[in-house]
Amino acid sequence: MGSAENPESFVTALLGGDGGHRERLVQYLYEIQYHYSFVPYPAVQRLAAALDLPEAQIQGVVEFYAFLHATPRGDFDILFSDSITDHMLGSRALLHRLCGELGVQPGIPRADGRVTVDLTSCTGMCDQGPALLVNGWTVTKLNVNRLIDIARLVESGTPVTRWPQPFFAVQDNIHRRDMLLQEDIAPGNALQSLLDSGPDKMLGELESSGLRGLGGAGFRTGMKWRLCREAKAQQRYVVCNADEGEPGTFKDRVLLNSYADGVFEGMTLCAAIVGASKGYLYLRGEYRFLRERLQSILAQRRAAGLLGNDILGKQGFDFDIEIRMGAGAYICGEESALLESLEGKRGVPRTRPPFPVTHGYLNRPTVVNNVETFLAAAKIAVHGADWFRAKGTEQSTGSKLMSISGDCSRPGIYEYPFGVSIDQILSDCDAQDTQAVQISGAAGTTVPRSEFGRTLAFEDVSTGGAFMIFNRDRDMLDMVQNFAAFFRHESCGFCTPCRVGGALLKDLVDKVHAGRATAYDLQEMRNIGSLMREASQCGLGHTAPNPVLDTLQQFPDIYQRRIMCTETEPSFDLDTALDEARAIAGRDHRDVQPKATP
Ligand code: SF4
Repeated sequence: MGSAENPESFVTALLGGDGGHRERLVQYLYEIQYHYSFVPYPAVQRLAAALDLPEAQIQGVVEFYAFLHATPRGDFDILFSDSITDHMLGSRALLHRLCGELGVQPGIPRADGRVTVDLTSCTGMCDQGPALLVNGWTVTKLNVNRLIDIARLVESGTPVTRWPQPFFAVQDNIHRRDMLLQEDIAPGNALQSLLDSGPDKMLGELESSGLRGLGGAGFRTGMKWRLCREAKAQQRYVVCNADEGEPGTFKDRVLLNSYADGVFEGMTLCAAIVGASKGYLYLRGEYRFLRERLQSILAQRRAAGLLGNDILGKQGFDFDIEIRMGAGAYICGEESALLESLEGKRGVPRTRPPFPVTHGYLNRPTVVNNVETFLAAAKIAVHGADWFRAKGTEQSTGSKLMSISGDCSRPGIYEYPFGVSIDQILSDCDAQDTQAVQISGAAGTTVPRSEFGRTLAFEDVSTGGAFMIFNRDRDMLDMVQNFAAFFRHESCGFCTPCRVGGALLKDLVDKVHAGRATAYDLQEMRNIGSLMREASQCGLGHTAPNPVLDTLQQFPDIYQRRIMCTETEPSFDLDTALDEARAIAGRDHRDVQPKATP
């Protein structure tokens, strides 16, 4: 909520006694945003002077992140989660209802500065939506009654800290446990195994386990750690990617809520193997509610001698972990963009090679792994490679957590050995009349009913963990439209194929949805999608056209039945486009009478 405190004094206190560090810029801005409801210009000036950065650079960082604003938001800044699963649960109607109750237009602060109501990308609550954020805090299970309560609390100016606690309840919703979720390891067990066997043997164990990155990329974890260990450098880093922004994914939320000790244990194990003394947990801004709990677990581990200097009494085994907050940018889930953000910059993906494993955080060798991967590594350290290889498939050993949402009776977290069939999962979560499943979120794969016998594994349908279910009553084009809008919004804008291609694709999907498209438009969508896949700079641009291209192939009917125009319709209306220029200039050439001919 806004504050009368002088921004310069606030920033001075924030920077601390040593005057601050450039790489913490996003963190400073994050704190300023939540203190003032925006980043006031005097705060930018003070940061620029203290960190010796151009003001324009700081303003550029503010512009980049969705949760940072250069102009005031409402005292209550309410953001509705805009995932397709929130839509399916009626979020848009609820948003308009709340706007009506509060007398506010979406995206525009109310005249008295009390409230803003807007949309944000998926908040990771697909199993308990519709959801929203209010001043960064998550509210779940929205319904009309809850919205009326929220409107009343806003109008009475009740601070969010005094809102009813049930509003903020976040459930784990774990419905199936396997090797990762069955009994958590005791703090220190993996590290003791490491000290008993030594880092060389432990790295070999990890390699022979076959563990692969469980965020979706599937890179061999042991190989990544070995490359980092062998890179020449005085300092190395370990980074846990907890920027779980893929729509439909919420497994990391559950792991950090209930298995964080194991995740931190895995990070510490990695540090001992690669020779790092500093680690970061990059936590998505939407998971602000987890920060305090995670900090207290870190404090407990320090007190127990599991972080800090001489861990478990081993001289020179020094490592500590700091939590850094993301600020609402999906692209920061891409590891090089995440590192840019960690360094206090706009989260624009780096050109690779070199790869983070040799040139990562502050240009030093860095292991970046997903939350689930670190937990799996800690478990392997305790139970051994054979234990891990005993489940899964030849190329995909072990198990995988799935975030299940959409049209089923029991959404939530399900852990399966790799190789489980889609049919099996649908049966377990009690899904009826399913027409399609979207695996791995917006960037993933659309699987039609005819292929439900396929399995989840790197050698068949690879997955980062999202599993969104659509029954026969759903219009699959609604999903495509939601994802196209998501990618247009989340493109970092650095390269043309993604920036322009994503916008064109979104406009064409809208055109199809409105029943104004032609067969030519469908071919244009294929062409643009192919070009984005081939020519974009990073994974976001490569995968953004997936929902369009998949459904054009798997569900041609949803397009064909909307092709109403038999003639080509221009996609650019010059007369409409000139309206804005006419308004700015205050002139309209259409008013000018032609000169009389002599
Ligand atoms: Fe940015 Fe998209 Fe290009 Fe990636 S592909 S660098 S997100 S514009």
